[in-house]
Amino acid sequence: MLTSKVYKFWFATGSQDLYGDECLKEVAEHSRIIVEHLNQSGKLPFEVVLKPTLIDSASIRKCFNEANADETCAGVITWMHTFSPAKMWILGLQEYRKPLLHLHTQFNREIPYDTIDMDFMNTNQSAHGDREFGHIVSRMGIERKVIVGHWKDEQVVKRMADWMRTAIGVMESSHIRVVRVGDNMRDVAVTEGDKVEAEIKFGWEIDAYNITDIAEYVQSVSKGDIDALVSKYYDSYNILLEGRDEEEFKKHVAVQAGIEIGFRRFLEEHNYHAIVTNFQMLSGLNQLPGLAIQRLMEDGYGFGAEGDWKTAAMVRLMKIMTKGIKNAKGTSFMEDYTYHLELGKEAILQSHMLEVCPTIANEKPSIKVAPLSMGNRQDPARLVFTSKAGKGVACSLVDLGNRFRLIVNEVECLPQDKPMPHLPVASALWKPEPNLITGAEAWILAGGAHHTAFSYDLTAEQMGDWAAAMGIECVFIDKDTTIRNFKNELRWNSISYMLNR
Ligand code: MN
Repeated sequence: MLTSKVYKFWFATGSQDLYGDECLKEVAEHSRIIVEHLNQSGKLPFEVVLKPTLIDSASIRKCFNEANADETCAGVITWMHTFSPAKMWILGLQEYRKPLLHLHTQFNREIPYDTIDMDFMNTNQSAHGDREFGHIVSRMGIERKVIVGHWKDEQVVKRMADWMRTAIGVMESSHIRVVRVGDNMRDVAVTEGDKVEAEIKFGWEIDAYNITDIAEYVQSVSKGDIDALVSKYYDSYNILLEGRDEEEFKKHVAVQAGIEIGFRRFLEEHNYHAIVTNFQMLSGLNQLPGLAIQRLMEDGYGFGAEGDWKTAAMVRLMKIMTKGIKNAKGTSFMEDYTYHLELGKEAILQSHMLEVCPTIANEKPSIKVAPLSMGNRQDPARLVFTSKAGKGVACSLVDLGNRFRLIVNEVECLPQDKPMPHLPVASALWKPEPNLITGAEAWILAGGAHHTAFSYDLTAEQMGDWAAAMGIECVFIDKDTTIRNFKNELRWNSISYMLNR
């Protein structure tokens, strides 16, 4: 399900025709070596494609427009090897619509003290040329990433790799389609939002269907298909009968198998990549989708509970951004549930009624059947497990009425050594940065939701860069957060977004 194009990134070196052919030949050769190194590093998730050196307004404009038109191009990386008068870049930049990375590097790592002369200085002056380029991009108010450092440095290549994933998030955001088969939970504020504005800002298509439309797909799943999937479940997961009758248990599991198959068919036929449900609106379904939704999320679908389409789209987005990461630790819909307020060990138990993605599981998940304390349906089957330990980001997208705000909290999932035998849902236990007290205070001041899109495999920098590219506000809660500064930041941002609207 997590399909996206085989994207590439273009490498465009800026220069001018003032330096003569000899110099331009050297510039092109240096760019070729850098691109070759980047591609052979094995550290970049996507290929870099070398473009001819850009030396005038016409070639710059042509390059950016070709990048716009090429469906496989997810962004342009620019580097001014020499001085490249930036007025030449205005028209091209004005027409360019994809992610932009300004790599501020230099071919030589060290100053060649013994041989340096004016020829060398003129050929290797990105310290000079990249400032001219940076000026015009800033003056034009164009959002871009700037990465500084030698092109062989591991940290530079790592940051380029991270940026590429952000760029994929920018490119793929406008392909996200969310289906709502349940409206927002009655009376709830934070999961609401302006869907028109979301399509303008993020490109998300958010459509509503009657729950009965998708329930028809569930009802028409054959018994044979259900039985086959149930036996697959029994092969893949532990079964926690806990005193329930074996046959009755299996019948409950079969309901989720039917939901999984029916939902999957509906999503595929209608080309949706994320889904929301609401336990208040389940006409035609015998259980709240639990195990079924968990498995769809595992396959890359976005999910938001109680009609939360913003989080559903964010989960999908973050799954796309992390696609193909080696040893990925997982990405899930999540909810702040219960605190542990023991002094010095403060943490938040994360969970949901059912729907936590198994990609974050630390062990083989188990199937459990238990009553749902809310709603009026049968006891739903669900996967239970605890999460991996490690650092991640918890993201909440909220609608403040006049703008969207993305809140990004760095968190650390703790090992869950003490069993919770009566907890019938999957869970994580995390400590928000800088600590629970300041982290939660800042989160509440920012208006962050109880629902989050969580990932071990993305950084706050990547999420912030994505938000910047989308033109929305982003606030970080991390080791540097203090309440005094954070409150000021929110206050200043509110003015800034009033002016920029
Ligand atoms: Mn919820």
